[in-house]
Formats: sequence, C-alpha cells, structure tokens
Amino acid sequence: MAKSVQSCGIYARISSDEGTALGVGRQIEDCTAEAARRGWPLGEIFTDNDVSATRTKKRPAYERMLHAIEHGTIDAVVVWDVDRLTRTPAELEQFIGLADSRGLALASIGGEVDLATPQGRLTARIKGSVARHEVEQMSRRLKRKFQENAKAGKSHGVMPFGYRREPILDDNGRATGSRDVVVPAEAEAIRELYARAIAGDTLRFLAKYLNEKGFTTRQGNPFIGNVVGNMLRKPRYAGHRTHAGQIIGKGDWEPIISQDTYDQAMAVLTAPGRRHERGMEPKHLLSGIALCGRCGGTMRPNMHKPRPDGTHRKAAYSCPDCMRLTRQMEPVEEVVEAVMVGRLSRPDMLAHLSEKPDALKAAASARDAILARMDTAADDYADGTITGRQLARMNERMKASLVEAEAQVLKYQPVRILDGMTGPGAAAAWESATINRKREVIRQLATVTILPSGPGIRFSPEQVKIEWKQA
Ligand SMILES: [Zn+2]
Repeated sequence: MAKSVQSCGIYARISSDEGTALGVGRQIEDCTAEAARRGWPLGEIFTDNDVSATRTKKRPAYERMLHAIEHGTIDAVVVWDVDRLTRTPAELEQFIGLADSRGLALASIGGEVDLATPQGRLTARIKGSVARHEVEQMSRRLKRKFQENAKAGKSHGVMPFGYRREPILDDNGRATGSRDVVVPAEAEAIRELYARAIAGDTLRFLAKYLNEKGFTTRQGNPFIGNVVGNMLRKPRYAGHRTHAGQIIGKGDWEPIISQDTYDQAMAVLTAPGRRHERGMEPKHLLSGIALCGRCGGTMRPNMHKPRPDGTHRKAAYSCPDCMRLTRQMEPVEEVVEAVMVGRLSRPDMLAHLSEKPDALKAAASARDAILARMDTAADDYADGTITGRQLARMNERMKASLVEAEAQVLKYQPVRILDGMTGPGAAAAWESATINRKREVIRQLATVTILPSGPGIRFSPEQVKIEWKQA
C-alpha cells in the first residue's frame, strides 16, 4: 500500500435495474463499515438517486465527488461495487484518468479494485461492460421467453425433514402448483437440534435424540450423525433457497430457525477440531484435545491390556505419534478442570470473549447485502428479466464474496457455548455439564499441552500447560 488515506468519500447510487434490494442506506452502511475496517477517515458521503441506467440523467453528487477528488478534498473512494460508480465505459475511462492523476485509492465491498494497477483497471472495465451488457439484454421478447423457462424449471427436489409439499388448488379443486409447509412436530425437533448443537452436543448425540423421538429419515432409516450434520447445514431452515449447494435467494417457505441461530450453530459445527468428533462418542475429557509436549501430536486414551494377573493399569493419555509420552488421566484432568473452573469463575471472563458486536454487525450486514443481491437476481430470473445462464454467472460472482462474508460472520460470533458457564455459578455449572460441553468449552478457551517429565518424576500440575486462546 502506498501513502495512507487522509479523507475518504463514500459514493452510493440506487437505480431501478437493481430493484429495491440494494438501497442507498444499505450501500452507505456497508461502505462506512468498510472504510472503518481499513482505518480510512470518513470525509463525505455522496448519494445519487438515479432511477434509470441510461446516460442522460445527471448525477449531481457524482459531479461533486469528481470535484472533491480533483481538489484533493478526498483521496479515497469506497463504493458498494464499481458498477455503482460509473454507468458507461466512457465514464469509467474518465474516472480512471482522474484517479490516476490524483493517486486515488478505491475500495469496493465486492472485492478490492485498485485503479492504480493495470489489473485493477481491467477488472473495473470488465465489470462495467458486463453490467452494461446486462442492461441491454432486457428486451421484452427475452423477458417473455425467460418467464416460460422459469415456470418450467420450478422443481425443488426431495422435501427435507421439517417440511411437506402441499398442492395449491384453484376454485375447481385443480392443482395449479405447490407450496412447502412446515410440519410442526418436525420443526420443533429441528429447533431443539440447533439449540443442542449450539450447546455443544455431538452430532451422534443429536441423531440419538431424533431416533428416540421416533423420527426417521425421509427414506425411513434411523438418523446417524453425518445425516444430522448435513441437515443442520441446510440454509433452507433459515429461509434460503439453494441450488447445487449454494444459496441463490430467499425461499418462499416459512423458515424454521432464525439466521442468528443458523450462524451460531455453524460457528460451533465448523469450529476447528470439531471433525474429530465424528465416529465414537468421546468418553474422556481430553482425548483428541490435549497435545503432546514432545511432538505436538494429539493425545489419545491409552487402552492398556490387563496385566497377566488380571489387574488393570490406571487409565492414561498417550501420544500415538511419537509414542514417547504417556500420562495418567486422572491427575491431568483434575488440573485442567480446576483451571477451567477458575477461569470461568472470574468476573472479567466475559470481557475476554471475542464479543465484537460492531464487527459482527458489519460482517452480518455485508453478508446480508450479498444475500439481498442474490435474492434480487433470483427474483429477476423468476420474473424472466434475466436468463438462467445470467443468473448462474451472477451467482458465480457473488459466491466467492458470500463464502468470505460467511467466514467473517462466524469469526465474530459470540461464543455461546459459554452461556451459563461463567461467573459465580461456574463450578456448579461445570459439575453438571456433559462431557461434550466440557470438551467444547476447553477447546474454545484453551490449548492444553501435556509436557514431558523425566523418568521417575512424580506428577505435578506444572506438567500440564494451559494456554488461553486469544480472541
Ligand atoms: Zn508425541
């Protein structure tokens, strides 16, 4: 990065071709967050309300912004997308010329476009001409054709758990279409699954819960952990329509859970180390969690064979990687549990969590903005305004941004796993927590390493190193 930005302008524009999804308010909100993230001091916000994507309309705010750039009042511009900024290739060239001569920094929410580099200019040019091309495609003839396609292509695949399909009947009792309606008992179970997942229950445990309640999969089989995991990952439950595994817009069915619940559950389900939970239900507090102080491997329970006289040795954790470290379980677990309870009891505990409501809000609104664009694109497709191929191409473009935005949202999620586990009641809460929850809490808060000690040296608490993870 070259010189630091002194004062940045935000440029927002609404035009009819984007529908209502990308309101000026949202663009400004996202751009302000982006400027803050980059540490760019905010100078002025320029807003145009441009109801058509033609060349003839004047854009007074845009003109004022060019003026401000020319006079050095602002030295950076944040836009939602480059296609907000310029409407024609000629305008873009003019803007690039000005940006060049003034050394302007430019950022867009949909990725960084640095007009100072040839690559950045090329990107901007391509984006500009694609946007224009799409406007030109909107002829009534095409529109009618796409409407037919959209109708013919209305299929949803297998009904997931929680919903059933119901025909829509006309006055004569003829089916004119179908809609997906919530099955209350199944929806109730789904909400319970999310709540339990957020509280740290394993997928295997969740599958057991469903089976005990008498539910089966749509194929009539008992649930298993992986099936439940795939189920909970479905954005459909939060009301999103997907195609080939990616979100393409808002569904016309009733969501079963909130977006917030979905995000929280994903934060837990995708937490690092979580994958070790597949398969066997863990029986030991630190198996797969504690690290080997010799080689960094992951400690596992050591399944000793009984001695020849039939007696058992005490249960221990061993490193299967270097096979040079073994430690009795009980004293190690005692130390870890005591230290965890001590930590959780501290009154300042909550301040140590990664509670960054502003960052979370910014990340969530950036994510929602992308979803809103996808909604608009899906609606345009349904209305016949764009083709399936155009929809696919637009989604391809938005998919990468969505993945990144989702990652940001997960990153700033508060650690709900600790709800009810902190403060004066921490010891009692720990005592009554399930082993799954304890393991999840340890994983969230600390790195536990079992240090080597010389032969014959008795166990001492210093041989267990507990490092707190920084938010
Ligand atoms: Zn090792």
